[in-house]
Amino acid sequence: MLPRHHKPQHQKGGAAVDRFKAIWITKDEGEKKQNPAAVREITLDDLMDGDVTVRVGHTTVNYKDGLAVTGRSPVVRRFPMIPGIDLAGTVTASTRAEFKPGDAVLLNGWGVGETHMGAYAGMARLSGDWLIPLPKGLTGAEAMAIGTAGYTAMLCVLALERAGVTPDKGPVVVTGAAGGVGSVAIAVLSKLGYTVIASTGRASEEAYLRDLGASDIIDRAELSEPGRPMGKERWAGGIDVAGSHTLANVLAQTQYGGAVAACGLAQGMDLPSSVAPFILRGVSLLGVDSVMAPKPRRIEAYDRLVADLDMAKLAEMTTHIGFDDIIDNASAILDGKIRGRLVVDMG
Ligand code: NDP
Repeated sequence: MLPRHHKPQHQKGGAAVDRFKAIWITKDEGEKKQNPAAVREITLDDLMDGDVTVRVGHTTVNYKDGLAVTGRSPVVRRFPMIPGIDLAGTVTASTRAEFKPGDAVLLNGWGVGETHMGAYAGMARLSGDWLIPLPKGLTGAEAMAIGTAGYTAMLCVLALERAGVTPDKGPVVVTGAAGGVGSVAIAVLSKLGYTVIASTGRASEEAYLRDLGASDIIDRAELSEPGRPMGKERWAGGIDVAGSHTLANVLAQTQYGGAVAACGLAQGMDLPSSVAPFILRGVSLLGVDSVMAPKPRRIEAYDRLVADLDMAKLAEMTTHIGFDDIIDNASAILDGKIRGRLVVDMG
């Protein structure tokens, strides 16, 4: 149980003056679907309990935020809810020894924006267990340009490294290449010396993907249809954001002893595969979760992002939007219309 929340910091004539905008999601009693997301003015009293209060400086829109804001999948599991799974901001109040007012902090996941009021608001009240100090070498805006998508891309790279997929073993395929996870994965892998094969449904993004460091571009239709249990060995490893037939085909075309990191379901939740790649080629399937990843793993991922992600490439893949643009972009990301990463400047 979290301690009782702090009261608003600034009082005038007994009334809280700290009003701020939030995206507010409700669901009516007995209804299956949530109501359309709305913007509302709230105060700290509308937030949930927590021991650290943060002024949100920047946030982002990930695929999961798209699902939460539109209600296309049941990501939000408590109502009312403020969506938004990532934030960077400044501590304004804290009862935790490790965080004091003025500290710059970062949050990714932990169910924030799903079961605990999230990032799409001027302020957030959170558990200190979920926060890490803003990594040295990153601004809040850069941390949000990375966001859960970029940090997950790095968790995938770390998983491949641990499985022995080094640049000398052969190329690595990245699916959903022009999306958030895909774009960061390509930039990191290419900086580390891997040969990257980018799978995309957007042929128009070829120049963008080559700029990020992809050597080869393949049409995602090559991977998204039902395929054979085993195919020609094309890559030493893969990072897959699609699931379904795409992941099955990536596994079927992974070379002997290779490994594939699976983190997403952009095509589907199913995995219509066989055991053939595992038992005949010793291929490994590496599951990657960012939401509940323990703090040391997060800190390792950010240390590696600071070292191995070219900040100029990060800027190239990032579009800046304002708070009022979040709802429209939440639909756009689910429709595959967003290239790279979005940063929300909270102003
Ligand atoms: P984006 O929307 O930015 O990227 C997804 C990309 O997937 C699209 O840009 C598109 O790339 C490709 N795509 C879309 N639909 C299909 C399809 N039907 N078949 C094949 N490819 C498709 O999302 P993110 O990068 O933020 O997230 C990607 C996935 O990873 C999501 O499913 C998300 O939920 C998951 N994820 C999981 C995390 C975890 O902790 N496990 C953390 C972060 C994300 P292109 O246009 O290049 O083809």
